[in-house]
Amino acid sequence: MPAFLVLENISKYYTSAQSVVMGLNNVSLSFSLGEFVAVTGESGSGKSTIAKVMGGILPYEGGEMFVDGRPTSHYGQQDWEQYRSRRISFISQNYDILPGCSVLENVVSALVLTGMDKKKAAARAEEILEQVELLDKKKRRAAKLSSGQKQRLSIARALAKPAPVLIADEPTGNLDSENSAKVIQLLAAAAKERLVVMVTHDFEEAEDFATRHITVRDGAVESDVALREANEVSAAVPVVRGKGKGKSLGRYTAWLQMASRPVWTAILLFFFALTAFAMFAFLGTFVMNLDDSFTRVYDPSAFLNGNDNRIVVARTDKGNFTEEDYDALIAIPHVTQLERYGFLADINYYYREGIDYMVHYENVTDDAGNPTGYVQKQITMGDTNLFLQAVPYLAKGEKFLTAGRLPETMYEVVAVGGEELLGTEITIYIENKKKWPAGTSIQVEAVVVGVTDKGEHLYVAEQLGRIFTAEVSTEVVVAPIYDEPSRYVHFAQDIIFEDRYLCSASMQTILVNQFLRLYTSNGWGDLDEWVEYSKQEYPFWNYLDTENPVMLRPYGIHDSSYNGYYLVSPESFERIVPDAGANVVSLTVSDYAYTERVLSDIHALSYPAISPYQLGATKQDPVLAAERLQTLEICILAFLAVFLLQIFVLRAMFGMQTGEFRLLANLGLRCRTAKCSIVWQVVLFTAGGQLIAFAAVLCCMGLSVGRILDIVKYLPARHVLFFMVLHLATGLLTSLWIQRLIGRQVYPGTLRYADLKMDEEEAEL
Ligand code: ADP
Ligand code: MG
Repeated sequence: MPAFLVLENISKYYTSAQSVVMGLNNVSLSFSLGEFVAVTGESGSGKSTIAKVMGGILPYEGGEMFVDGRPTSHYGQQDWEQYRSRRISFISQNYDILPGCSVLENVVSALVLTGMDKKKAAARAEEILEQVELLDKKKRRAAKLSSGQKQRLSIARALAKPAPVLIADEPTGNLDSENSAKVIQLLAAAAKERLVVMVTHDFEEAEDFATRHITVRDGAVESDVALREANEVSAAVPVVRGKGKGKSLGRYTAWLQMASRPVWTAILLFFFALTAFAMFAFLGTFVMNLDDSFTRVYDPSAFLNGNDNRIVVARTDKGNFTEEDYDALIAIPHVTQLERYGFLADINYYYREGIDYMVHYENVTDDAGNPTGYVQKQITMGDTNLFLQAVPYLAKGEKFLTAGRLPETMYEVVAVGGEELLGTEITIYIENKKKWPAGTSIQVEAVVVGVTDKGEHLYVAEQLGRIFTAEVSTEVVVAPIYDEPSRYVHFAQDIIFEDRYLCSASMQTILVNQFLRLYTSNGWGDLDEWVEYSKQEYPFWNYLDTENPVMLRPYGIHDSSYNGYYLVSPESFERIVPDAGANVVSLTVSDYAYTERVLSDIHALSYPAISPYQLGATKQDPVLAAERLQTLEICILAFLAVFLLQIFVLRAMFGMQTGEFRLLANLGLRCRTAKCSIVWQVVLFTAGGQLIAFAAVLCCMGLSVGRILDIVKYLPARHVLFFMVLHLATGLLTSLWIQRLIGRQVYPGTLRYADLKMDEEEAEL
């Protein structure tokens, strides 16, 4: 039999910065297939060093090792990887199994790593497990096996690999004599078609099977005795011809490694979820605080209503909006509703007696001074600032009412609430703080004709929008009468008009409340004054046609506390304000957070638009502003901390796995594949962590955690994508570092001194 493995004057030094230790000194040995060689020697004599050099695990410095007649001294890292994966099965004292994987998976993985097809590997693995009497335990986790079983498993793995050389470094070191005997018999059987080299401290146990006995002392061969005939090996064991499909093998290895240490995997996954969540929270808070509007004080001089959800839009040509415009605007994301009369939202109203307003009464007495009843004397408005809202224009298909119908005139409203509100009569006081004298208001008696579940208060008819946003002339409100004038009009009985025709709502006449104050304070007022007044016609200017005013004549008084309020017939109203107020619309955004996005969407459709809130919030509150700056700083620091923490924890967690990488390397895992596996693991952890964090965010939203809700609102999708990529990038960056670490410690061919570090680590284990 020709020699298969030849060592010629092999020297091996362990070099460190401080010293050089001689591991092997001019060792010359030659081995053939079919031999079962026992290597013995005292502890520290160099047995393991020989085994590792032969196994291609440690590089040698002097001499030459021949494999199948070819020298190896020129081998680079990749050649050694190939050598290990194709020629060598290595068994160590520590079993070197993947504890978290099943017995079967342990054997299969070793075969797959050498490039064998998975199905083929499974079939062969079962065959070999049968030989080592572990087939019945193939589903069991390797960690649960006894030490004898573990070692048999590692032998099964070595036997399964069709490599010509099997090297076992003290395989029986941790076993009792019964298990030792079994192991040695298996190795002896393996030698029938291979070269088997077994390092042992106890030669006697191998004596009956070994074909040769080598003793080592001080890194040199002391004796080399043939004991019996080596086996006849007809044909060499076919060497593995794995193609080593790098990427898919990398993915496989990643799964294998993650499955083999479930606790480690769970911890890292949890950690990545944590960092993903933390990055989301910190960067989210940061982005949220980039907008400084909440540190500002609102100034109502331009727009009374500083509701931060509101956006006011006009058309470039200042014309009235069309249905098409409405549809385009309401379709913008985060716009929840649209009001046609945009400036209506700057007018206050009050409708809850005792809450929004108080009515003060005065006793009325008869001539004798006896009380006969009460007269409403004045009302005072409360502090609540409600703003008028007309029934909004909603996106197509969206339902506004839950019951009833939409209001058609200014005397009908939609209330928020249940059906029981239908038919309720409500007194509404409307107050235009910008145009009317303080304390004056218009009283509208309205009926609830519809109910809705949207918003908070009342919705008035669009009619009211037209009335209050129409520019008739300064400080004048003209409103049409739609039902019984007697509800609003008080007539002095003895007033006679020349062409009296008082009770029809369709009259081309006007009601003036000029005498209201007289009415409320002095009974029916000064008749002479009233008669004088009612004899003339007064001009009302159509804002489109300032040349030709509409001439109307007064015929009665009504009880509003605002003097400039005229009730006219619907026809007159149409003539005076034919198309009022619809040239500005108010949009409601679901949250202020979306304002910038909505504004830019509106501008993209080329409508001028502003946020009244942003316009008015010009002054900074110094305390809030300082707090905000602090928050920004904290966010950046916290983010950096998480960033660094993730890098170091990831590095440390993988640092704990060098042993396993080394084990897999001994099984034939290539450096390139190992690096692939690292990247895959990091990607999987990142993706898994992000998924968990995503679920956590959803949970927080479900539980209405305010801060999270705010962040989510402030974050456009592209920011979220940016976070995800950043999180992944952090992981990948770290994986480069880990790759260097693993390359240096597990694949030392690339670096000097590295083997020393390797064994220091082993000593720790
Ligand atoms: P054995 O397996 O026979 O107990 P080893 O082959 O492990 O012996 O070690 C042989 C010699 O090499 C010992 O003197 C040991 O101290 C030394 N040695 C082994 N590994 C290292 C290392 N990484 N650095 C320095 N010296 C080492
Ligand atoms: Mg040893």
